[in-house]
Amino acid sequence: MLFNEVLDLKGKIRIYCRVRPILPGEPKDQSTVDYVGENGSILIVNSLRKGKDSKKVFSFDKVFGPTVSQEQIYTNIQPLIRSVLDGYNVCIFAYGQTGSGKTYTMSGYDLNTKETWDIYNNTQLNGLTVPDASWVPVSSTQDVLDLIRIGQKNRIVGPTAFNERSSRSHSILTVHVHGKELVSGTIFKGSLNLVDLAGSERMDKSKVQGDRLKEAQYINRSLSALGDVISALAQKSTHIPYRNSKLTQILQNSLGGHAKTLMLVHISPEPDAIGETLSTLKFAERVA
Ligand code: ADP
Ligand code: MG
Repeated sequence: MLFNEVLDLKGKIRIYCRVRPILPGEPKDQSTVDYVGENGSILIVNSLRKGKDSKKVFSFDKVFGPTVSQEQIYTNIQPLIRSVLDGYNVCIFAYGQTGSGKTYTMSGYDLNTKETWDIYNNTQLNGLTVPDASWVPVSSTQDVLDLIRIGQKNRIVGPTAFNERSSRSHSILTVHVHGKELVSGTIFKGSLNLVDLAGSERMDKSKVQGDRLKEAQYINRSLSALGDVISALAQKSTHIPYRNSKLTQILQNSLGGHAKTLMLVHISPEPDAIGETLSTLKFAERVA
C-alpha cells in the first residue's frame, strides 16, 4: 500500500477555508464570522445586516478559524505534501481577496522549517513559456531553503510595490522532487506547486480603465477558468477545460491525472469585506 493511499479515499480535490484574525487597528468587536464548527468543517458568516437571511452556512472539507496557527495548518497539510513522495503532483492554491491572508499562509511565516526528506537532484528543465520565471536546479534541502529565502528577500525590498503587484499577479513556486526512499530504495518523482493567486476582488468598472481594466478582467477570467477546471476534476468530467487560461495551461500536468489539489480559500472577518467574503465562499462551494 502506498504511503498515503488511505487519504485518497476522500478523492483528489480538497477545499479548505482559513479565516484570518482581526488585525491590530481593525475594530475588535465586529467580525463577520459567527461560528467555526467544532469538527472544523462548518462556517457561519453574518453579514451584520438586520433580517433573517443575514446568516449563511457554508461547509468545506476543513475550516480553520482565526486562532489556528501556521503550525496547525502545516500539520493538516503535511500528509498531502508528503504524497509528493508517492509520485503525486500536488497543487496548493491560495484563493481570496487582497488582504485575506494568502501570502501569510503560503510564505510559511512563523514556521520553523522542518527537514523531513532529502532532495538529491533536479535537472528536469523542459520547455518554458512563462514570463518572469526562473528554473533553478537544486541539489540539497539547503538549496531549496536558500532559494525560498531569496524569494522572500525580493519581496521585502519593495513591500509597497510588491503588494501592489502581488495582488494583480499569480505567483507559482514549483518544486520538482526526484528522490530515493532511504530504506526501501524506491525511486520517486513528484512535484509540489504552491500557487499564491492574484486577489479575487472584483474591480469597479467605473473606476478603472485601460490597462488596469484589462488586467482586472484577465485576473477574473483566469480565476474563473481555474474554478471551472477544478470543478470539472471534482465531478470527474470527461472534458477538463484546461485551455481557457494560461494559468490552467501552465499547471495542466499538475492538475488531474496523478495529481492532488488543495484549494485553500482565505477570508477576512472585516465587515467591509463581507461582499468579497461571500463571493469567495460561493466560488469555493461551486468548485467543491
Ligand atoms: P493577501 O496575500 O491575501 O493579500 P496577506 O497575506 O498579505 O494577504 O495578509 C494581509 C495582512 O494580514 C498582513 O499584514 C498579514 O501579516 C496579516 N495576516 C494574514 N493572515 C494572518 C494570520 N493568520 N495571523 C496573523 N496575521 C495575519
Ligand atoms: Mg499576497
